[in-house]
Parts: sequence; C-alpha cells; structure tokens
Amino acid sequence: MASASVRAEPMQTAPRTSPDLRIPLLDLDRPGFEALAAGWGFKPFHGRNLFRWLHKHGVSELDAMSDLSKALRERLATETRIDLPRVAVEKPSADGTIKWLLDLHDGQRVETVYIPEESRSTLCVSSQVGCALDCRFCATARQGFSRNLSTGEIIGQVWHATRALGKPPTNIVMMGMGEPLANFDAVVKAMAIMQDDFAYMLAKSRVTLSTSGIVPNIYRLAEVSEVSLAVSLHAPDNALRDQIVPINRKYPLEQLIPACKAYLRGEPRRRITWEYVMLKDVNDSDRQAKALIRLLEGTPSKVNLIPFNPFPNSGFETSDPERIETFRQRLKRSGLVATTRKTRGEEIAAACGQLVGQVQNRRLPRAGAQRPVSIGLSM
Ligand code: SAH
Repeated sequence: MASASVRAEPMQTAPRTSPDLRIPLLDLDRPGFEALAAGWGFKPFHGRNLFRWLHKHGVSELDAMSDLSKALRERLATETRIDLPRVAVEKPSADGTIKWLLDLHDGQRVETVYIPEESRSTLCVSSQVGCALDCRFCATARQGFSRNLSTGEIIGQVWHATRALGKPPTNIVMMGMGEPLANFDAVVKAMAIMQDDFAYMLAKSRVTLSTSGIVPNIYRLAEVSEVSLAVSLHAPDNALRDQIVPINRKYPLEQLIPACKAYLRGEPRRRITWEYVMLKDVNDSDRQAKALIRLLEGTPSKVNLIPFNPFPNSGFETSDPERIETFRQRLKRSGLVATTRKTRGEEIAAACGQLVGQVQNRRLPRAGAQRPVSIGLSM
C-alpha cells in the first residue's frame, strides 16, 4: 500500500533498465491517496483532492491540479506515475456499442466494451488477460491465462471510458475477460474506486461482479463488498455443469447455492442474477427448465438467459429464439424473474464471450481444433 511505498526514491534519473519504483497512482484507492499524502507530511485531504482530480475530473496533468501545493506536486512528479491506458483499437458498432482494445505496459491487451441503452449505459470491464477457467463455450477460455490485471489496469478502463464518453457509465459489470474472483484484491479495490463519491460515484447495486463460482471467494466478497453478484450457472445439475463450467468439479452446486444465498444476507431487496447461456440441445430443454426452477427454489433470483454467441469451432449452437422464449416462460410461470439478454455489438465481436484480443503469451494455443464436446444430450 501507499504508506509502504512512500519511501521509494525519486527515479527520474535512474537508468531505463532498472525497475521503475515510482508509485503507480492508479493502483491506489482513496485511503491509499490519503495515506500517501499523510506519509509525506501533507494533510490526508490533499491526497483526497488528488484522487478527485484523477478520477472525478479525469485530469492527469499535475500542473492542472490547481488546489494542490507546489511542494506536493513536485513530490508527485518525481515519486509517482500515472499509467493511463493506451487505445490500440477503437471499434464502434452501429448499435452504439463501442469496443476498446487497450494496450498494457507489457504488450498485453485487454478489451473493454461500452453498451448504451435508453435509460442507462453499461461498461463491461476485464479483470484478467485471458482466463484459466476453461468454460467450454467461452472464447476467452480458448486463449488460456496470461496474467491478472492490477487495480490500475482495471480502473484505467473506467478512467478511459469516462474520458472518451464525457461522463461515467451508469453501470459497470465485471463481465469482460477473466474471472474477477480469481483476481480478488485488485478487483475489490477497483470496485471500491468505482463506488467512491470522489471518483465515479456508482451505487453498489450498479456495480456487478460476475463469477463462474469460486465459492470461498464469494464468502470473502461478502465480507468486504456489497456489489451485485451475478453467477454463471449455465446448467441446472452437476453432471452437465461439470462439463461446461469445469470449476463446478471443485465447487459443485451444493456449495455454490448456499454461498450465493449467504451473499444476500437475507436483505429483502437483493437477489442473485444467474447467467444461463442458451446452448441448443445442451441445456435448453423443458426438463432442464424444471430442474433450474427446483435448484433456485428459496434463493431470491433473477435469471438472465444469454443467447450463445457463436465463434469459430466452438462446437455449440445457440438455441432457437422460440426455444429460449418457451424456456423463459416456464421460469416465469414458476414465479422467477427471467429475462433474455439482447445481444449487442455483434458485428464488432463485442458480445459476451467474444472478447478475443490479440493476446500474447498464451498458455495453450488450441490450434483452432474443434474440441469434442461430449455432453449427455439426451435431455
Ligand atoms: N468469468 C466471469 C465473467 C466472464 S464472462 C464469469 O464466468 O461469470 C460474462 C458472461 O458471459 C458469463 O456468464 C459467461 O459465461 C458468458 N459467456 C461466455 N462466453 C459466452 C458466449 N460465447 N456466449 C454467450 N455468453 C457467454
């Protein structure tokens, strides 16, 4: 944290090959900025002002931060750095969706997607370069896992979008590349900045973390955050979920469902959003709708049916629209809130599970081979 790094020596004259010890300001949350200022003998509120300049006003030039003392600005100039994301590619879509491919300092790239709607705007933010979880229908999984993003790289996506659009999005979903609960600390800190009144001011209900179900970290999240929780369910039973969301073998449904229930803490207005990707003849039968209803009994829930977004050699097809609607109606008749997600940004490959930047250092190039998907399809 900041207080520890404050002792770093000025690095301006250091040879380029030595490590850059300057403090990356985008990695700090508000308490981090306050501690930084206090550690240097300034008042904590000076740190808060700096935080506000950076995130609320989107100003990154120290000279423009008129209410900071010269002494503080000089110290910041020598001992800190602000690593803003660089846009490699910006792809706007006819429906208003914008996808940004952002360059990271080590040549890795991540994607961020902006989705405007009539009454709100949503930013879909990445938490890792690639993903290690191997969900069978997800394009990011095909890239393998490269590394976690830092807090600065996560909030940098929000910083960039806010600057590009002239205002912050009304909603943020941690549904881009990666598994946010596998990068716990950096994600939690970035989500705190999203909610901070001196930064992006998003209500806790307007920040959503989507997880494939890393059960211990759902309990940890409950201790430190109240953001909305979305869970990638995709199957109503362990046999199928084991195959399409392999993390289920480690944390099966009988562990996942109680963890999600506990996350809600019995608060009447909260509920879990269950994401359910509609895969033709795999998880879309009437019997499976019934099993899903049984599974969610007693958990305040909203089910979001996601038409599968195809990509080359996925081995899956999306369910017919009529099947999706029949499935949804069944859920609704049982009293569940069930919606079908509209697919946006399709022609710029910005739709769910299609975020496939040119990611280097892949774990396993799967050589485009169509993997056999051996799932009991007799349901
Ligand atoms: N790792 C997190 C967030 C990632 S993606 C998670 O698993 O929740 C956000 C959502 O998109 C998840 O529900 C994911 O399962 C879904 N998704 C992935 N690939 C998809 C595809 N090809 N079509 C539709 N939805 C997909």
